[in-house]
Amino acid sequence: MDKARVAVIGSGFGGLALAIRLQAAGFQTVIFEKRDQPGGRAYVYRDNGFTFDAGPTVITAPDCLRELFNVAGKSMDRYVELLPVNPFYRLFWQDGYRFDYSDDLAMVEQQIAKKSPADVAGYKKFLSYSEEVFHEGYEKLADEPFLNWSSMVSVAPQLIRLKAYRSVYSMVAQNIRNPHLRQLFSFHSLLVGGNPFTTTSIYTLIHCLERKWGVFFPKGGTGALVEALLKLFRELGGEIRFNSEIAEIETSGGRVSGVIDRQGSKQACDLVASNADVFHTYDRLLGREPRAARMRKRLARMNYSMSLFLIYFGTRRKYPNLLHHNIIFGARYRELLWDIFSGGRLADDFSLYLHAPSRSDPDLAPPGCETFYVLSPVPHLGKLTVDWRREGARYAERILAYLEKHYMPDLRRKIVTQRIFTPQDFEVELNSHLGSAFSLEPRLLQSAYFRVHNRDKNIKGLYFVGAGTHPGAGIPGVVNSAKATARIILKDFARDLPREKPRTAEFSYA
Ligand SMILES: Cc1cc2nc3c(=O)[nH]c(=O)nc-3n(C[C@H](O)[C@H](O)[C@H](O)COP(=O)(O)OP(=O)(O)OC[C@H]3O[C@@H](n4cnc5c(N)ncnc54)[C@H](O)[C@@H]3O)c2cc1C
Repeated sequence: MDKARVAVIGSGFGGLALAIRLQAAGFQTVIFEKRDQPGGRAYVYRDNGFTFDAGPTVITAPDCLRELFNVAGKSMDRYVELLPVNPFYRLFWQDGYRFDYSDDLAMVEQQIAKKSPADVAGYKKFLSYSEEVFHEGYEKLADEPFLNWSSMVSVAPQLIRLKAYRSVYSMVAQNIRNPHLRQLFSFHSLLVGGNPFTTTSIYTLIHCLERKWGVFFPKGGTGALVEALLKLFRELGGEIRFNSEIAEIETSGGRVSGVIDRQGSKQACDLVASNADVFHTYDRLLGREPRAARMRKRLARMNYSMSLFLIYFGTRRKYPNLLHHNIIFGARYRELLWDIFSGGRLADDFSLYLHAPSRSDPDLAPPGCETFYVLSPVPHLGKLTVDWRREGARYAERILAYLEKHYMPDLRRKIVTQRIFTPQDFEVELNSHLGSAFSLEPRLLQSAYFRVHNRDKNIKGLYFVGAGTHPGAGIPGVVNSAKATARIILKDFARDLPREKPRTAEFSYA
């Protein structure tokens, strides 16, 4: 029998992970990627000898990546080297306070004790809560496809017991009193697009996940990890087509029959897995399909994560006061987050993430130089009407001036290369609805069963993978979503698969 033919739309981490699993299991898989490089948000820019990872930089849960190589009978270590990053983050406040956060419990407690002795006990309580949530929410459920209501009902008692209806911030504040420490232990949800004041407390699990498995950075940058996944996919016989934007998912009698690209050429297939933005998929790619109408309407009403404004820049000097990952808090926290997520205002102040990868891998910058990106969360395009083509340069100048004043002396004179990426670029380049950087916001009523399902209910052969599906954004999230989607597809297409024995136990998804 011919192999079942799969079209994966998009080569983000989720798309690549699913394509690898399917190709390894015997499907004939083609990835269609709009851009000229793989990785989606993990795109790479190379300017004047500097290498800039465009998106994800904090690599956690390495085992979910390792598993992708194992399903193909390979070892990840032969493809890419993951360098440990420790301390994980250096956090800076405008009043001069600074905290180096790592997996060294004694060092963390020492810093807490120095700032607020009463909070040491509270931190321990928070840590054990985060460990419990991690066990229930990540270890048990991260790769669970929540296809039906009963799957949600079955986890409801645990969610209630863990108070998932409360926010990340409120769980932190219940245990920790000091305002700086409350910010330190609640900012993590921003890394997956969630406002700590509205994101379900389940996301405190990130705290435990980082501590348990560490924080890593691939030698050569995140792009090297993407390349490693692509190499593996190709070795398995998979195909990727770049500059190949899909314009339509073709259906016939309620079943997908192929994909059509912008140039009008059609590729017939038995199943389509979209790694593209979920709204874009239902609204544009299935715009003519009446069975998509309900989801289109539902998705139009849902809440999307904030957008981001990014500056990638290289300097002809070094800044040894910075670590690889730097979090820079502004004077306001709750109010600034309100401006970003609800108020729709481009605030005068900012909280920033500053990435300095040449701290871990000097080869990412020319000798004597350093590579950076700085990221400022900003409202998405549905909340704030700004022509970023005009505002971008001004906003970049404000951020750089702020960095120069507080953290990076002489910065603007030392910059040798610079480029920006705005909410409009998220919308245009990545087809991201409202220019959202992380897809649907990770609120309780947009999580698990309430998120976009890995398989569409009304259109046969249509599957989803990536940040818009359970468990959500972040590399571990989308790689786990690929595992969930692969498991469903393998069941749905079991009889079309080759009969020979799987190469490793990982081939059995049941
Ligand atoms: C700046 C930034 C920093 C981040 N930092 C971290 C971090 O440190 N750690 C972490 O774990 N996560 C981080 N994240 C989140 C993480 O990067 C994302 O959640 C994850 O990479 C999304 O993967 P995805 O599989 O959903 O696909 P995406 O990366 O969203 O890729 C989707 C792909 O689909 C393509 N596409 C769209 N429409 C079409 C079409 N019609 N036809 C063909 N192709 C199409 C796009 O071009 C894109 O390549 C960050 C995100 C951003 C934006």
